[in-house]
Amino acid sequence: MKRIGVLTSGGDAQGMNAALRAVVRTGINRGLEVYAIYEGYSGMVEGGERIKPMSWGDVGGILQLGGTVIGSARCKPFHDRAGRLHAARNLLLNGIEGLIVIGGDGSQTGAGILHAEWDGLVRELVENGEVTKKAAGRIKSLPVVGIIGSIDNDMFGSDITTGADTALHRIVDATDAISSTAASHQRSFVVEVMGRNCGYLALMSAVASGADWVFIPESPPDVDDWGAKMCEKLSNGRKMGRRDSMVIIAEGARDRKGNPITSQHVKEVIESRLGEDVRITVLGHVQRGGSPSAFDRNLSTMLGVEAVDALMSMHPHDEPLIVGMQGNKLTRTPLAVALEKTRAVAKAMAAKEFDQALELRGATFKRSFEVVQTLVRAKPHPPDPGQRRLRIAIVHGGGPAPGMNTAVRAAVRIGMDRGHVMLGVRNAFRGLINNEIAEVDWMDVNGWASRGGSELGTNRLIPKGRDLYSIARNLEENQIDGILMIGGWTGYESILELYMQRRNYPAFDIPMVCLPATINNNLPGTELSVGADTALNSIIMAVDKIKQSAVATQRTFIVEVMGYYCGYLALMGALATGAERVYLHEEGVTMRDLVEDVDDFKRSFERGKRLGLIIRNEMANEVYTTNFMRMLFEEEGGDLFDVRQAILGHMQQGGSPSPFDRIFATRLGVACIEHLIERALNGSHESACIGQLRGEIVFTELDGISKLMDFAHSRPISQWWMDDLRPIARLLARQEASTPQG
Ligand code: ADP
Repeated sequence: MKRIGVLTSGGDAQGMNAALRAVVRTGINRGLEVYAIYEGYSGMVEGGERIKPMSWGDVGGILQLGGTVIGSARCKPFHDRAGRLHAARNLLLNGIEGLIVIGGDGSQTGAGILHAEWDGLVRELVENGEVTKKAAGRIKSLPVVGIIGSIDNDMFGSDITTGADTALHRIVDATDAISSTAASHQRSFVVEVMGRNCGYLALMSAVASGADWVFIPESPPDVDDWGAKMCEKLSNGRKMGRRDSMVIIAEGARDRKGNPITSQHVKEVIESRLGEDVRITVLGHVQRGGSPSAFDRNLSTMLGVEAVDALMSMHPHDEPLIVGMQGNKLTRTPLAVALEKTRAVAKAMAAKEFDQALELRGATFKRSFEVVQTLVRAKPHPPDPGQRRLRIAIVHGGGPAPGMNTAVRAAVRIGMDRGHVMLGVRNAFRGLINNEIAEVDWMDVNGWASRGGSELGTNRLIPKGRDLYSIARNLEENQIDGILMIGGWTGYESILELYMQRRNYPAFDIPMVCLPATINNNLPGTELSVGADTALNSIIMAVDKIKQSAVATQRTFIVEVMGYYCGYLALMGALATGAERVYLHEEGVTMRDLVEDVDDFKRSFERGKRLGLIIRNEMANEVYTTNFMRMLFEEEGGDLFDVRQAILGHMQQGGSPSPFDRIFATRLGVACIEHLIERALNGSHESACIGQLRGEIVFTELDGISKLMDFAHSRPISQWWMDDLRPIARLLARQEASTPQG
């Protein structure tokens, strides 16, 4: 295969540009010519100027742009064979031997049909004399690979699709803003989000915003008079002191009989039954807009690389594939299978088989819906009279991480709903030493889903010596049956300390669970920690602005990010912003690297480069500091370019948590509490760390955890992203003369 085509089609989705950039650059890197087909299938049908070769530099500086730079369209003629005949002709004339389609299920269906008809189309074109036999003979079949670009995450083949995370960002920005005004006026709001057949955006934004009620197409309310049920819940919430009510509704919401439930309908029901002032916000195209989130940039980048590799490995007659991310792993699924499963959900809903529709969405989706139903309650279920009521303490440890409060909220509410007493420890392990331990109530955590920082308070103190004695006494005094630690590295070390001192202090002989919450993502037993996604988004927003500030000058920026000795934020930040260089402590930095990089930058600026971007981890090298690097590049850059440094600092720890972090924190908080309750009730004293590995929630026993930890550098001994993502960052960042930036 020598030449491939790439198009973006159907509804635009943020991240399409990142996928395009990755396809073009990976293709070129693998020795292919990559042609862009502008305006989706319309460009394919029209041909001519709409199909053009792409250079390395053509896709520079587009990572941060919303929409798609090669245009997208809905193309009616492509629905007919006659249109596809034109399309096939234009692909043949351009010598395109394989296709990468970035678009939703409609676009992928179209690609599947083109692939299936290829033989017949080519034969007809030869017979009509529109293409020569020779040209036709060169391209006997058209292998196709799809990347799903869809903001509503409505297609199988990927756990999450390009654009869905950014859409959640837009929704959550809106719900956060609405919450504050709603609370000021004691109003109710109905927020309508996209999703005709898929409640993903509605459900996940309900988890992330802490909404009070949610309507999704897959699971209509279980009673005919849903209005009465909803209003009872909302008014109970009011009685418990909630100042605002928010209902989230997917545009395709319906009742048990299949009749649509509209936002207007919901408004009227609340107004007439509760006499409240209700406002509707229909979010519409806002959800498609804006700059893509860090997650979407990196997801789409990885899918773009994978799509090229998949295409190159296909035999000419192989059936089309979809590349996706499932369980944090890149996967390839036959297009036919992905489409069939996608259609099955729509079919089940049309047949009003809602249980099946929910089942088909998968276990995580179903579980999230159940969790939302508990979290939105106005008060917990009362405990069973005969049940043993556990007393569970929640404590933080380490630096603040956005999402800590979200995890506490989920844990407190699920724990209380199961009939147990939840206690909050103020000021992390210092609070355990000083007995700052108090019961937390259901409404105490109201509004915490979206709140940044740490309401309970956190610090890096690790208890030692006599501290342990005080902690043991306080645990006994408060009759604590289990501990949930939500925090970072020093929180983990503190829990390990208690765990190892069990023989000396029987009070520590209770089940304990650690929940990873740190922006650094440097914890053992998990691929991800709560807070890292928010920090990454803060980094890319800052770097996007920094890049813009330099439009007219020839300049290189050196941006220093946090992470302590862990390079996760630096590497992911570099991937998401298109930085040319990234310096990590894991790899070390030598004088030779710096000299090579300086020479490389000089060559590029000589050839017309305008902007250089380097991201370094704060601890990348003790001697070659950020300032040192700035001076070195400045001196060596001479008249070619100047250099500025930006140390992003604590803005990375702040801000309200990203939707991803809120959803992740909720998932982990719920799982931890359920795990602790089970262990404590069974009399088990084992302790563990929760984590997400390959998309699954897993618990690693504390016994084995220290073997995974590099204590000198506060990071796991083995870090998955160094193997999986480092090579991609290197590939895409290669400098080329014509690259103006990223
Ligand atoms: P999305 O890809 O976002 O689902 P659409 O359903 O509008 O968006 O599809 C985008 C384009 O893909 C359509 O305008 C059309 O050109 C092509 N397409 C969609 N469905 C088919 C089909 N069944 N047969 C042929 N082409 C199709």
